[in-house]
Amino acid sequence: MKTIITHYIDGAFVESHGRELMDIVRPTDSQVIARVTLADEQDTQRAIAAAKRAFATYGRSTKEERAKILRRLHAAASARLDDLTAAMVEEYGGVVQFAGLIVQSGINAFLAAEKALEEMPLTRSWDKTTVTLEPVGVAGLITAWNANALFICLKLASAVAAGCTVVIKPSELSSLQTQVLIEALHEANLPKGLLNVVTGRGDVVGAELVRNPNVDKISFTGSVAVGETIMRDGAATMKRITLELGGKSPTILLDDADVAQAIPAALTLAFLNSGQACAAGTRLLVPRTRFEDVKQAIADAMRAFTVGDPADPKIAVGPMASQKQYKRVQSYIRKGIEEGAEVLVGGEGRPEGLKAGFFVKPTVFVNVNNDMTIAREEIFGPVLSVIAYDSEDEAVSIANDSKYGLHAAVLGTDIKRARRVASQLRAGRVVINGMTDDPQAPWGGFKYSGIGREYGRYGIEAFLETRAILET
Ligand code: NAD
Repeated sequence: MKTIITHYIDGAFVESHGRELMDIVRPTDSQVIARVTLADEQDTQRAIAAAKRAFATYGRSTKEERAKILRRLHAAASARLDDLTAAMVEEYGGVVQFAGLIVQSGINAFLAAEKALEEMPLTRSWDKTTVTLEPVGVAGLITAWNANALFICLKLASAVAAGCTVVIKPSELSSLQTQVLIEALHEANLPKGLLNVVTGRGDVVGAELVRNPNVDKISFTGSVAVGETIMRDGAATMKRITLELGGKSPTILLDDADVAQAIPAALTLAFLNSGQACAAGTRLLVPRTRFEDVKQAIADAMRAFTVGDPADPKIAVGPMASQKQYKRVQSYIRKGIEEGAEVLVGGEGRPEGLKAGFFVKPTVFVNVNNDMTIAREEIFGPVLSVIAYDSEDEAVSIANDSKYGLHAAVLGTDIKRARRVASQLRAGRVVINGMTDDPQAPWGGFKYSGIGREYGRYGIEAFLETRAILET
């Protein structure tokens, strides 16, 4: 069995000082497939010191030098695209088609950051004043497990474009994927100390990054609970902080929508990444007058959402990533039933024929109201709540009645009307008529979904400080 015993510090794979071992469990059959040696505070401090040394030089790099590094990172990661996808499928059960897209989108982030940097003025002057945008310093990048490679690439791309050096604390539940990615990025031949990666527990390695006075910035993707801790603990050293947190995203189906097209699009949004996606559209708001049509269309369209081996390209929903996730999803399905929602498709337990692993049934609840737990809390699994509304204003008000505001969708035929509805939604990103992407468009949340933005120039700005020089 494979055991990972190294971290990546100062341009080399170095043996872990921390000695704690953690099992990596394959979600399709609950077998232990690898072990990872977790870092301790000393490993983390060593990585921070390397990043600090490297910043003395890299912090003064030119745009051209940063662009060259971004291109090298892109080439290095691209060379291992298939290995990265395979690791994601095996380690956390991401379905192969979606895993491939996620990894590709992470790799694209390097070139997208290069383009954004090229178009960004970093200096402005007038009269005797010159304003420059300067790298913030050493950045601690902390990632969630559900798209670990994407988060690492995205945060690294923005930080490198801004002239920062980094210490990455990947999710410890993604150690195999991280190992493949770091082997790939090592080939980019970066200046020593620019990139450091320390895998360990959040409350050990993550907490040290947040506490350490030599880390200037934290960019975090994960839960609201940990985001709150980071904000609180980071205040002691006045950390600059970007938080990408959870969601309970609404999809508004307008009454002029073509249900045959709109429902598959709504279900794709709901079951994105087997429902383990911050952006998952887990509340579907439907005009009451069309409720029966919608129920039928959902029952028909659900046949395409097959559950099973994530390595099979015909499978749409894989297992939950861990036993903890499996139990969490089951408990929310039970709660939905207890609170009086009606199961249209799915329900408690494992899907038929899948006896091992962390598989759950993709579940659609109808007769949900927006006050029920399943409509308010982030489940992080394939569970959709369908909620009826009587007017467009009511749809907007239900959509916005959430502590979250990360993502939203509007489905309808009249594009002007869809845009009008989209413009009233309190979410960092709204898609019209289905999931789409633009690597220069900002990503991030209103309200409890986070603070700050990633991607394109917005992502780079999060790693910059502004300096003005005034002459007499
Ligand atoms: P999590 O908050 O449990 O862990 C995220 C990371 O924080 C991990 O690397 C973990 O080790 C680390 N961590 C834990 N305690 C810490 C501490 N005290 N100090 C510093 N770091 C600590 O989240 P998760 O279970 O890995 O991910 C799921 C959550 O992430 C969901 O809420 C999901 O919505 C959110 N998420 C958000 C986005 C986004 O872009 N907004 C994307 C993906 C996931």
